[in-house]
Amino acid sequence: MADIIQLLPDSIANQIAAGEVVQRPASVVKELMENAIDAQCSTLQVIVKNGGKTLVQVIDNGCGMSETDARMSFERHATSKIREANDLFALRTMGFRGEALASIAAVAEVELRTRRPDDEVGTLLQINGSEVIQQEPLACPVGTNFCVKNLFFNIPARRKFLKSESAEFKNIVTEFQRVALANPQVEMRLQHNDHELYFLPKSGLKQRIVAIFGKALNSSIVECSTQNSIVNVSGYVGKPEIARKTPGNQFFFVNNRFMKSMHLHRAVMNAYARLIPEGYNPPYFIYLDVNPANIDVNIHPTKTEIKFEDEQSIWGIIHAATREALGRFTLTPTFDFDPQTDLTLPYISPSAPVPDMPGVAINPNYNPFEAARDSFENASSFGISAPAKTYSPAPADVYAQPPSEPERYMLPGLVDADNNATFESTAPRFMQIKGKYIATSIASGLMLIDVRRAHIRILFEQFMANADGQILGQRELFPSTVDLSPQHHALLLEHQSQLTQLGLELSDLGHNTMSVNSMPVGLQHVEPSKLIDDMLLALNEDYTGNAEQSLKERLVLSLAKAAALNYVKPMNTTEMQALVDSLFACNQPHISPDGLPVVSTIDLNELDRRFRK
Ligand code: ADP
Ligand code: MG
Repeated sequence: MADIIQLLPDSIANQIAAGEVVQRPASVVKELMENAIDAQCSTLQVIVKNGGKTLVQVIDNGCGMSETDARMSFERHATSKIREANDLFALRTMGFRGEALASIAAVAEVELRTRRPDDEVGTLLQINGSEVIQQEPLACPVGTNFCVKNLFFNIPARRKFLKSESAEFKNIVTEFQRVALANPQVEMRLQHNDHELYFLPKSGLKQRIVAIFGKALNSSIVECSTQNSIVNVSGYVGKPEIARKTPGNQFFFVNNRFMKSMHLHRAVMNAYARLIPEGYNPPYFIYLDVNPANIDVNIHPTKTEIKFEDEQSIWGIIHAATREALGRFTLTPTFDFDPQTDLTLPYISPSAPVPDMPGVAINPNYNPFEAARDSFENASSFGISAPAKTYSPAPADVYAQPPSEPERYMLPGLVDADNNATFESTAPRFMQIKGKYIATSIASGLMLIDVRRAHIRILFEQFMANADGQILGQRELFPSTVDLSPQHHALLLEHQSQLTQLGLELSDLGHNTMSVNSMPVGLQHVEPSKLIDDMLLALNEDYTGNAEQSLKERLVLSLAKAAALNYVKPMNTTEMQALVDSLFACNQPHISPDGLPVVSTIDLNELDRRFRK
């Protein structure tokens, strides 16, 4: 039988290898930007069309390539960055594998224009799916200009798996930000579909961070640095008050390369323990400089994970540096005193007569249970308008069954049947437990309701019912302004009309600042910048299925959560009644809009079981 093993042709081998390097347009952006940085450029421009599916173009003014190098650069394992194995332990460049260009050219249509400073003419090279189409001399500026068109044009199965334009562009922005944060000394631009999202002049690190993430960070990050024989740490960490529910804005760079490390992330988060609420994310930008011999970057093909030789010590060092930075900031008083407020205390002479003692009026006839029935403020004080119909017995619905008196209060020997009515009229019907639950007795046993989730369900259904038309906005007397990152600014502008529909009216003041002209009715007590954060969180989530519908639902859910009662608010009987009534007037009272149980019942059998001998 004939031998059957053959070497794969280069074009196929490159396509297979491309699978590792080029997953999506953002991978192309990352590789080309890193090459430009390695080429020592001082300006770098990224131009993207259709989320990078049609075009990714990266232009630098770096060292450029000779005609031969231009051709060589597309060969697999072709690199100018290492020559021998030992070089691997002294790496200071972004690339070194010599795989990126070969991989990109295998799965796209690539045009390269490049010229070195000392050459009179440059080179144009065109390669489609690993095949050289054209190579000729060309007059062009110094540096390198890569055009990558129609990614995966020759692998329809992979092209089909690319996500929506906005999802792909989001990934590109992420990669762009990482390279931009690592290289503030380079002027950078990012342009998408003829709109310039970022123009970042050459600057210091702090200005770069602020230019990317918005002016709000200017006064809310503190320097974090320490130096020792193992590692040099520098960068910035956010003050606790700037921590947000929005994920992200947390960066580690090791020798100027963006890296992910759960281990080091915990070192930072641990330093924030008890300074920020659970689930909040402080921004941090931490740069580690270590001897390249002590790290192994080789463990992952896309090189965003890293192994340190001495992980434990580095953990301790980062933890201590973060703590120290936060401590330094909390020791300096940061309270914003209102300059109008007169803080001087009146002088009281020791010989001055003692003023009258404040009196305390007490009512000896006070009965807390009566008070619990009569003297409450209006239930609508927390935004629930009781439905016209209170919850009434529906035979099939055990929750809706109001408790029957004898069942609840029959205490044999103490109360006889005739007395029930009086006892009942003074007894509280609902009980609040730990500010978190409402307990009430029902025909089949005991029902417990989670207060906050119930309120979220009620508001969600009210808002959804309105959102078809519109949720009213309450005009702000003094519109507040929010400073945003260019990315969040663009996201809000894109969804401005949907937000207006929800009563949140924003207007653009330019320079990534927006003013909040109206807040949705029922949310006036919420801090506008907090609500905007919640909206951004909802807008940013990846979603599947009916995009329009689910986006609206997500926004409305965020509104409902922001407006809903927090736990621990003491409630009176009227309020509890209104909440329970409104809950059972909902279409789906038992489950919160994000899928959590709202109501739980313990039936009589279960209760009886507990009292069994
Ligand atoms: P690597 O970056 O791992 O060396 P690449 O495939 O990304 O591999 O690039 C191959 C080579 O092409 C690089 O080593 C470099 O010499 C050259 N090169 C790539 N991009 C540029 C650029 N923008 N400017 C100058 N030279 C470049
Ligand atoms: Mg490279």
